[in-house]
Amino acid sequence: MLKVHDTLSGKLEVFEPINPGAVGMYVCGVTVYDRSHIGHARALVCFDVIYRYLKFIGYDVKFVRNLTDVDDKIIKRAVDRGVPAQQVSEENIAAFNEDMAVLRCLRPDLEPKATEHIDEMIELIGELIDKDLAYEAQGDVYFAVDKLPAYGKLSHRKLDDMMAGARIEVDDRKRHAMDFALWKASKPDEPAWDSPWGKGRPGWHIECSAMSSKYLGQPFDIHGGGNDLVFPHHENEIAQSEGAKGCTLARYWLHNGMVNLGTEKMSKSAGNMMTIQACAEEYGGEALRYLVVGTHYRGPLDFSVERLQEQKKGLDRIYVCLTRADEALSQNAATVDESTKAKYVDDFREGMDEDFNTSRALASFHDALRAMNRHLDAHEWSQAAGCREALRDIATVLGVGAQDPCEYLDSQKHQTLSGCDLSAEEIEALIQERIEARKSKNFARADEIRDDLKARGIILEDSPSGTTWKTA
Ligand SMILES: [Zn+2]
Repeated sequence: MLKVHDTLSGKLEVFEPINPGAVGMYVCGVTVYDRSHIGHARALVCFDVIYRYLKFIGYDVKFVRNLTDVDDKIIKRAVDRGVPAQQVSEENIAAFNEDMAVLRCLRPDLEPKATEHIDEMIELIGELIDKDLAYEAQGDVYFAVDKLPAYGKLSHRKLDDMMAGARIEVDDRKRHAMDFALWKASKPDEPAWDSPWGKGRPGWHIECSAMSSKYLGQPFDIHGGGNDLVFPHHENEIAQSEGAKGCTLARYWLHNGMVNLGTEKMSKSAGNMMTIQACAEEYGGEALRYLVVGTHYRGPLDFSVERLQEQKKGLDRIYVCLTRADEALSQNAATVDESTKAKYVDDFREGMDEDFNTSRALASFHDALRAMNRHLDAHEWSQAAGCREALRDIATVLGVGAQDPCEYLDSQKHQTLSGCDLSAEEIEALIQERIEARKSKNFARADEIRDDLKARGIILEDSPSGTTWKTA
C-alpha cells in the first residue's frame, strides 16, 4: 500500500487515485533561460523515480511537465544577446533535453510550452474577472487574494503573516499588497500577445493552472515540484484554479527538498560543477542520479564534488559485479529462483511504498547485489539469477545500474578527459605514433602530433625514460 506525504495536509496519506488504476501527475518544469543545474537535476530525478515507480506498480500514468518559455530572465538574455526571445528558449530547451538524457530520465507524456497556451490562460483570467476574483489595472490583471478565504492553505500561512514576512513594494495598481499578476502589459520590445486588456504577456503562475487542467482535468492526482515553489507559485496556482472552477486542483501535493552546497558553496570546484552538463562530463550523468537517489526526496541533499566522485566509484563497482554475474550466468544457464527474486523486490517495494523512500530502496539493491555475489561464489546459479532479476527490476525504477554492464564499463575506458576531447587511450596511441615517426626520421609528422596535442590541451614531456603527458 503506497503512502505519500501531502504538503497540504502535512501528513502521510494512503495513495488513492481519483480513477482507480490511473494517475494524472503534473510537475512544474524549468524556465528555459540557461543550462539546468544540480538543483534542477534533483527535482527531475526525484519525480522521474516517482513516475517510474507508479508505472512499475501497475498504474497507467499520465505525466505532464511544463516548459516556461516566456519570462523576464529569458527576455533579458535575448536583449543582452540581441536575438529573439524564442531563440534563447529554443536553445535552452535543446540543452535541457540533453541533460534529461544524461540523467537517464524518461520523457514525460506531455511537455507543454507556456507560449503555446496563451489562449487558455486568457480564458482562465476572464473567468476569474467574471467571478470578481481578479481585476484589471492599466493593462495588467491582478488576482485579488483577499477575495479568497482559503488563500494560504498550502503554505499554512495567513495573509497577515505573509505581509509581515514579505518585502512589499508599493504598487498603486494593486488593491492589496499580496495581489499577484495574472497578466502584464508588455513594454515596447517585449514579446506580446493580444488580450481583452491590451497587448501583454502572462504572469508566471497562470500557465500551470491553464495547462494542468487542460491535459489532466480538475482535480487530478499528484502535483509536484521543489519545495521552493510552495509559496508563492503553488499557492497561487491553487488560488487561480480553485477560484475559477470551484473545485480542488490536485489531490496530493508532493515537494522535493533543496540541494545544500554547505561549505562548498563558495569554492571554485563546486561552482564549476553546478550545471548538470559539467557534472555529467566529469563523472557521468548516472553518478549524479545515484547521488540524488541516495537521499529521500523530501530531505535536504548535501552536494559536494567529493560525494559525486564517491558515487562514480560506487557505480563502477556495481557494474563490475553485474558484469561478473552476466558472464557467469550466461555460461551456467539456470532457471530463475522466483522466491529469491521476490524477497528482494518485495523489500524494495516496502521501502518505496513509504513515501518513495529511495534510500531504503537502494539498501535493498545493495542487499541483492551482495547476495548475488555470495550465490555466485557458491555456484548457486538459480539463486544468483533470482538476485540478478531483482536487481534488474529495481534498476528499472531507480534508473541506477540499468545500463548494459559491459557497455557501461567499455564507455568508462574511453571516457574523454575533462577539458580535452581525447581519451587517455587515444593520447597514448598518438604518443606511440610520434615515437615511430621520430624513429623513421619523419620529424615533420612528429612535430605535427606534438602541436596538435598542445592545441587540444595536452602537453608532452620527453625525458630519457620516455614521453609522458599532462593536461595544460
Ligand atoms: Zn507551476
